[in-house]
Amino acid sequence: MVSIGRSEDGVLPFSLSSSQIRGCLVKLGTSLNQALKNHSYPPLIQQLMGELMALGVMLASTIKYEGKLTLQTNSDGLVKVMLVDITSAGLIRGYASFDKRSEKDFIFDQDSQHISIVEIMGNGHIAFTVDQGAEMERFQGIVSLEGDTLSSCARHYFMQSEQIETDIFLTAGYYKGIIRSGGLMLQRMPDSQNKDGVMKPSQPIGGSVRQKEGLSNFEEDWNRATILMNSVKNRELLDPKIDAQSIVYRLFHLDGVRGYPEREIRFGCHCSRERVIATLSNFSQVEISNMFVDGKITVKCQFCNSEESFTQQSIDASILN
Ligand SMILES: [Zn+2]
Repeated sequence: MVSIGRSEDGVLPFSLSSSQIRGCLVKLGTSLNQALKNHSYPPLIQQLMGELMALGVMLASTIKYEGKLTLQTNSDGLVKVMLVDITSAGLIRGYASFDKRSEKDFIFDQDSQHISIVEIMGNGHIAFTVDQGAEMERFQGIVSLEGDTLSSCARHYFMQSEQIETDIFLTAGYYKGIIRSGGLMLQRMPDSQNKDGVMKPSQPIGGSVRQKEGLSNFEEDWNRATILMNSVKNRELLDPKIDAQSIVYRLFHLDGVRGYPEREIRFGCHCSRERVIATLSNFSQVEISNMFVDGKITVKCQFCNSEESFTQQSIDASILN
């Protein structure tokens, strides 16, 4: 087995000083591999999970929250459900459920730039939920799975739900035998949102800030920034030796790019025996009795595949009393 080093996974938020454009760059390797390691997903699902995790990290970096952000697809194609969640502390996990009988149909195209989701996901929707605990209101946005790629679904989401023009580049694939993913996002912020303190000012990356004469031509700046963003190479996003700052500087140094504190992303599953007990205690005694197979109840975490088993004795001790 190929060993994976310390987490180089993270998200670098940035803004372009020449206009009201903010963005972020995500690179995932270790966390993605840890999320996948206890599952035997076909390579195409691994790639799709890589893209969805990168997208989840991007969404999480655009909002302020204390709790958990969940990105979930439900669809009627070969892939039924994909779910990624990321806590405000930067812990990410995910799982996919798919039609195992159709595994041969998950054709992996090593050379593909982006994964076409139409054939493998079919019709469905993608939901974005922020859960900040019992006392806070849950926020949810849903859009149908439209367009050919996850990036186009996300662009559609931001336009429909937030009225924010957004461009997203996502990629996932094997780099030197290890699956990795990454992405870049740019958002054109309305005046008020650019000043709401979502991001703390930081240092210019590389120190070069272009001074523009007079007011920026926002349209022109946006078009140029998106062209530059889409010129990013897959290898740059997948190679762990190329750091986020270097890529962002290479692409946007003429646009006065400013970096904000980079956030580390790690794999983390918050399942526990206590949580399973809390879930089981919602069932009636009869329902619990019907869950026994060969004298025990086994509950498997769909994220990390760890198992919790209960005998009649442990159920009696922890739930029924
Ligand atoms: Zn777990």
